[in-house]
Amino acid sequence: MSKITIIGAGLAGSLLAIDLAKRGIAVDVFEARGDMRTEAVDAGRSINLALSDRGIAALREVGMDEYMLAEAVPMTGRMIHDAAGGTKLLPYSGRTGEYINSISRGGLNIALINEAEKYDGVTFHFNERCTDVNIDACQATFSSGSSVDAQAIIATDGAGSAVRRSLDLRFDDLISTSVFLDHGYKELHIPPASGNSFQLEKNALHIWPRHQFMMIALPNFDGSFTCTLFLAKERPTGELSSFAALSDHTSVTQFFAREFPDALELMPTLVEDFFTNPTGDLGTMKCWPWSVGNILLLGDAAHAMVPFYGQGMNCAFEDVRVLSELIDMQSEATAQIDWRSIFTEFSSIRKPNTDAIQDMAQDNFYEMRDATADPVFQRKRELETKLEQTFPDYFSKYSMVTFREDLPYAVAKERGNAQDKLLMDICSDPENVGHLGLDKIIALIRNLHA
Ligand code: FAD
Repeated sequence: MSKITIIGAGLAGSLLAIDLAKRGIAVDVFEARGDMRTEAVDAGRSINLALSDRGIAALREVGMDEYMLAEAVPMTGRMIHDAAGGTKLLPYSGRTGEYINSISRGGLNIALINEAEKYDGVTFHFNERCTDVNIDACQATFSSGSSVDAQAIIATDGAGSAVRRSLDLRFDDLISTSVFLDHGYKELHIPPASGNSFQLEKNALHIWPRHQFMMIALPNFDGSFTCTLFLAKERPTGELSSFAALSDHTSVTQFFAREFPDALELMPTLVEDFFTNPTGDLGTMKCWPWSVGNILLLGDAAHAMVPFYGQGMNCAFEDVRVLSELIDMQSEATAQIDWRSIFTEFSSIRKPNTDAIQDMAQDNFYEMRDATADPVFQRKRELETKLEQTFPDYFSKYSMVTFREDLPYAVAKERGNAQDKLLMDICSDPENVGHLGLDKIIALIRNLHA
């Protein structure tokens, strides 16, 4: 029986453990934190996440999709909140049944660990922080001083991957670059109303776009919302505010009263939350190669991205699905798994696609904080919705990324960018859509891809 070491029992590592165990591959999973099922450990960044089709497809492979969706709140569109407190819903898709799902990070992680532990070959080792890997011996060393030899090591230890750092030190060819935004993020809280009812529209992802900064809110199962404020860390010239400038009770309250008055009314613990909760960093990390010998980086360890397309976890789950397809293909051909060749093939298939979603996630920051408040962008979203309602085989860029697990991210990016440019041009004049008509517009789009 093959024995694999997984470093990191976060979202990708736990799903990967199930996936490998289902194929009869034994796994040891080493996790730096304590067991989140029995100890109050921080589940990591962002309390809730948007789960969409690529992630659902990977959960389906291990029979966990329906179970997880039962614990999620569907979000059918973006609810835009303007500065005067007005709202407008921009649906994510013109087709029925296409929506994203707000899910608890901790709940999902626990469900995946529980499921993985049902398999005989899976063992979790908590409070085991990997500090180093030896490439030639395929050996991982931990802060406790212990070490383990493995047939292969898969590092799912997240954006700050210790395995990646260790490879970086020992393997001259590894190139990794991290680009951090000037903006950071902070999570805040809107509690449920009486009877666990929602104080804002339940089935939407709420956005307060304010050009230089923005706040979003995702619903939780208990009727609360988790808000995330994205704001410059320091105040660059011309910026209205920054985390550094919001240094006391008065400045925080005045900022929220000016920028998010409708949300402020619903946030009784705002000031306490603001000063208790950490300010997180936002960055894109690209590296290459992802595999050295029998060691592979996967998920955020290989391609951390900013969260503005809601795809980091979905992409990491898609990594797991693609890797297991490659294992299946090789297992059909030979009894002995050649991990090195699988890892090399996996990396070359995934890299163009993860580059594409990392770039789109970065671009979407500007779309969310600026464009969602822009009338041309709003007209374009309305046109895209009408096109999807009228021509079900038309997919906007957002739909291709979010609802088409059959379409590689790189294809979604190329087609989506071409469509976006055309539609933004058309929508720059409010009369154009009426003049051209939907039939002519769809013909122009089809011509782009001919
Ligand atoms: P992680 O979830 O980071 O897991 C890494 C695990 O490794 C952790 O358990 C950690 O404790 C462990 N670990 C770390 N170092 C070591 C070590 N040295 N030894 C052993 N264990 C170690 N994605 C979406 O798809 N949708 C969203 O809506 C979304 N929203 C987000 C919002 C925010 C604010 C942020 C920051 C991210 C968001 N993401 C979202 C991205 C998503 O969180 C990540 O892409 C996802 O968590 C990646 O999973 P992972 O398992 O690769 O890494």
